[in-house]
Amino acid sequence: MTLSEQTNDFSEVIENDRAHVWHHLSQHKKYETVDPMIMIEGKGIHVWDAKGNKYLDAVSGGVWTVNVGYGRETIANAVRDQLVKMNYFAQSAGSIPGSQFSKKLIEKMPGMSRVYFSNSGSEANEKAYKIVRQIAHNKYGGKKHKILYRDRDYHGTTITALSSSGQAQRKDQYGPFTPGFVEVPHCCEYRSQYGECDDYGIKAALAIEEVILREGPDTVGAIVLEPVTAGGGVITPPEGYWQKVQEICKKYDILLHIDEVVCGLGRTGKWFGYQHYDIKPDIVTMAKGVASGYAAISCTVTTEAVFNEFKNNPSDPMSYFRDISTFGGCAAGPAAALENMRIIEEENLLDNVTRMGAYLMDRLHGLKDKHQIVGDVRGKGLFCGLELVVDRKTKQPVDESVAQAVVADCFAQGVIIGATNRSLHGHNNTLCLSPALICTKANLDEIVGAIDKALTKVTAG
Ligand code: PLP
Repeated sequence: MTLSEQTNDFSEVIENDRAHVWHHLSQHKKYETVDPMIMIEGKGIHVWDAKGNKYLDAVSGGVWTVNVGYGRETIANAVRDQLVKMNYFAQSAGSIPGSQFSKKLIEKMPGMSRVYFSNSGSEANEKAYKIVRQIAHNKYGGKKHKILYRDRDYHGTTITALSSSGQAQRKDQYGPFTPGFVEVPHCCEYRSQYGECDDYGIKAALAIEEVILREGPDTVGAIVLEPVTAGGGVITPPEGYWQKVQEICKKYDILLHIDEVVCGLGRTGKWFGYQHYDIKPDIVTMAKGVASGYAAISCTVTTEAVFNEFKNNPSDPMSYFRDISTFGGCAAGPAAALENMRIIEEENLLDNVTRMGAYLMDRLHGLKDKHQIVGDVRGKGLFCGLELVVDRKTKQPVDESVAQAVVADCFAQGVIIGATNRSLHGHNNTLCLSPALICTKANLDEIVGAIDKALTKVTAG
């Protein structure tokens, strides 16, 4: 019997939550009239709330995190055993799971070499920025310190991570921001800045080169990019884009930092999103799917060449990476991550993502055929988006409230889907799907069926 099937009364929990908990990304006024949702149990791809309602979770914990699904006892046991044996020591010392997980992770990332542990995607990105800045100081007299980021990408919630994010909804009212971060144009072909063209990917990459030349190549140290833009609209890279970006980075001696916080560990059908595009990053950051939400862990992974910049000048007392993350030393993270990776391998989840991703994409194209409101369908593996428009010809985005109405209707049907964030250009109109990597055709049919009904309802009235 699941908790939710018991006759527990959670009204006190709900009232305490209403009185004392400040929810993320939430306007709390609504809780004066509706109860806050409390999730109390999960199993596989399903979750139950405190009122006993069961949901199919098509967004893996709301934010692309619970990749191997809920209720994984072997991960919980690995974490428990590690905590009883050795829960914590500052990461200036190592740990058994840290050593084992790093080896396993690097085996999946040819060309990469070193793993730096912290706790969240934002923090992993901040570590990467500090690495870039310190190399600029050690090697280029402080000059090559600028970091480029892309419109519509998101890299985290701390002020500097926000400074490198291209989403107005997250940034508005939190400035002033950290200097030295410069925006480059997005690469959403559906929203082409150059009209219809055969070489959109090349044009979008050359737009980055233009910014580099404007800023001065000797001032630019790195560029941070999502392999597939997540919250900014599930934007898959256009043909030719990544090769050109890599070429431009090489030409101007700019480090390529790929933010795999969402795509990392299986979401797109390969271990990492960048591995679809035959590129060689210098820095890769990851967080959400690393331990599927069973422990807080993030990693900043670098090549040996980047690492050596901090090792090869021992006579300078300031040249090592003078950074620490207290809870980067909690051994629960790598213990959970190691077991998470074992599950992905043992259950052939990358194959499942590829097969189920293709099936989902097919079904979503079916929705596009049926509903005029669906302007574009995009995705990679089990990471898909449906962009909603008022008119297919003008591509005018639907109002945010329309996307939210579809999300709400699916929720009422027992299916949790998401919608993307507003960018500077008002594209807050993309429905977002990212079910657990274990999902089945039946799960996907249920998800698509719910969206189908919701779209019918929303467009009818
Ligand atoms: N990078 C990307 C691509 C993200 O989507 C997010 C969070 O959604 C982050 C970084 C920040 O991660 P965290 O919320 O763990 O700090």
